Amino acid sequence: MAVALIVAAGRGERLGAPGPKAFVTLAGRPLVAWSLETLAAVPAVQRIVVAVPPELAPRGAGTDELGGVALPPGTVLVAGGATRSHSVRNALAAAGPSGPVLVHDAARPLAPADLFERALAALEHADAAVAAARVTDTIKEAEPGGAVRRTLDRSALWAIQTPQAFRREALVAALAQPDDVLAAATDDAWLVERAGGTVRVVESSPDNLKVTTRLDLRVAELLLAERC
Ligand code: C5P
Repeated sequence: MAVALIVAAGRGERLGAPGPKAFVTLAGRPLVAWSLETLAAVPAVQRIVVAVPPELAPRGAGTDELGGVALPPGTVLVAGGATRSHSVRNALAAAGPSGPVLVHDAARPLAPADLFERALAALEHADAAVAAARVTDTIKEAEPGGAVRRTLDRSALWAIQTPQAFRREALVAALAQPDDVLAAATDDAWLVERAGGTVRVVESSPDNLKVTTRLDLRVAELLLAERC
């Protein structure tokens, strides 16, 4: 059985919202509630840990709600850290002793249940498995001044998303890095790669977008409306 960590402790300044991004309203509910609902319906997920801004983490006894939404039974809230990887590390500390780990950004409310399942299944052949969409744009690498250095082979490029699934020991080792290395990580799989672990991509759709700007929020709302 697996544990799922949702990181929801970011400030989300690019969204221009008054509060933390994970609690911005999307189609009538806080952003984080969409991922919670999906994960609660994944049979392989036994426990969910959510890293929230420290001011929202319960002191003492637990809580059964988050942002006004009931939490799935057995969900635990912990205080997030200064960077995303620190939030993952804090959540992992509350994850229980064993089993594979799914890490998911609250900022990706549209990840479907089968994507979590496929990421877990891909761990049979790797230390980590990451949701990823094929790149459709042409990607060029350029000097800081703008001169193009080279054009990359698009057929081999993937835009990396979450969920990301990990063998427990690989994630524990990856997160046991100095603070400056954790701060530089934009995803946890990079930390596994750095430590010599094997990482696979699991094909996903560009619809599994990350809500960063107001435009993303509007697009996510339209995609959710299509699903209902
Ligand atoms: O900032 P960005 O959109 O890349 O954040 C990705 C995810 O990581 C978001 O769900 C955000 O809430 C989370 N995060 C976190 N703790 C931080 C920074 C980001 O949980 N210190």
